Amino acid sequence: MREYLKFYIGGQWVDPVELRTLDVVNPATEEVAGRIALGSAADVDAAVRAARAAFASWSATTVRERVEVLESILDAYQKRSGDFAAALTEEMGAPAYLAGGFQVGLGVGHLSTAIELLKNFVFEEQRGATLIVKEPIGVCGLITPWNWPMNQIAVKVFPALATGCTMVLKPSENSPFTGQVFAEVLEAAGVPAGVFNLVHGDGPGVGAPLSSHPDVDLVSFTGSVRAGVEVARNAAPTVKRVTQELGGKGPNIILDDEALAGNVAKGVLSMMGNSGQTCSAPSRMLVPAARMAEALEAAAAAAATVTVGDPNGEVVIGPVANETQFNKIQVLIRKGVDEGATLVAGGPGRPDGLTRGFFVRPTVFANVTNDMTIAREEIFGPVLAILGYDDLDQAVEIANDTEYGLAGYVAGADLAAARAVARRIRAGWVGINDGFDLHCPFGGYKKSGNGREWGEFGFHEYLEVKGILGYAPDGAAS
Ligand code: NAD
Repeated sequence: MREYLKFYIGGQWVDPVELRTLDVVNPATEEVAGRIALGSAADVDAAVRAARAAFASWSATTVRERVEVLESILDAYQKRSGDFAAALTEEMGAPAYLAGGFQVGLGVGHLSTAIELLKNFVFEEQRGATLIVKEPIGVCGLITPWNWPMNQIAVKVFPALATGCTMVLKPSENSPFTGQVFAEVLEAAGVPAGVFNLVHGDGPGVGAPLSSHPDVDLVSFTGSVRAGVEVARNAAPTVKRVTQELGGKGPNIILDDEALAGNVAKGVLSMMGNSGQTCSAPSRMLVPAARMAEALEAAAAAAATVTVGDPNGEVVIGPVANETQFNKIQVLIRKGVDEGATLVAGGPGRPDGLTRGFFVRPTVFANVTNDMTIAREEIFGPVLAILGYDDLDQAVEIANDTEYGLAGYVAGADLAAARAVARRIRAGWVGINDGFDLHCPFGGYKKSGNGREWGEFGFHEYLEVKGILGYAPDGAAS
């Protein structure tokens, strides 16, 4: 049983100003796996003061010095890979191949990318007599969700460190173990005191005071639209920068060609991965109406291969991360049935033989229309909606008929057609076939958010741009 009752502030593990605790439940067993302290506005204030105190010296470090710190984090991080994997499985039920393999690897990928980018990043640029300088924005509040805990922390903390910012991290109270191990890694790596601070807690107790704090220069938030709106509202009076990575309802347009059955199967597996708890998940599959029967056969066969169970065993998916999420998914699956969609795989209730744990049946709906709740709301579970289209114009129209715009996908053998369709999707991240790139900007149009993370675009979020006029290089006329 884990017990994390201190916060990491100013390079020390300190007691909360007032101790309140929260039990963290393992979603595969429904048993308590640990306990954390829940912070308050007073703890946030102490952490922000520590971050502010460290800003002058950290922002003045050279690129070489920051590269060295990031390299020592990489070393310390890799030594704790097994601990990260265990934390992820316990707190959100990620199976071993996703936790220790993919997600811990993603963290390494983002960190290695940040190191390489930092070595070559252009912080200053002379344009005529004007010097353009990119400077760290200051103290950052970083608020992360439970669905990809390691990845979300990595895409915020590493660019913030690389650009010379100091920060306060508040991981999700549903999946705080990864954040705890992460703080221990930064401590072991010798990150200077106050540069990185960790305060555990919930939205109202820690997220809200962090968002409204007058000495925080930026809040980078990933989570639901509901909380993202609250963060922006709380941040508004202090006119700080707010970046929001929010929900999605990603379309996946399957082109009408010889690769259709294979692409449908891939789309199903991609949707089910991480138990469907991915903001960029391809949750609306659009297939040519004339080939619906073939597509549904391929979809049902693929869904049947998605084994569900104990994440410590050989399974494709574990449970969903918590009870609230489980209940919400069940309501939405029932709604799909009630609104007239047809079940091709799965359905309400737990999978056979699993009586404990927040396990959901991999579910595929056919005969979905884009006005149904299951086509409009982000379900955040292993639930796919399949819709038909008559021609590509209609496919694009359906794809874009959503209040979200985070991710979209096109799958087909005809690359020219796929490229043309990809350009027409209104979303920040559009995948053609198996495209994947840690340098690709990640973020949303419309209600999916503001700002971009990952790679070089992630750096820009943490930088202010200053123009100095009349800054002629030596010997040049100003
Ligand atoms: P959530 O909004 O409930 O919580 C996210 C974080 O915000 C948590 O740390 C929570 O404590 C905090 N929070 C809650 N209320 C707050 C408030 N009023 N002020 C400040 N912080 C507050 O979301 P969740 O349920 O943890 O995550 C699921 C959601 O996250 C989904 O909607 C998903 O699409 C989204 N998500 C988006 C991305 C992306 O990059 N676009 C990535 C992952 C998840």
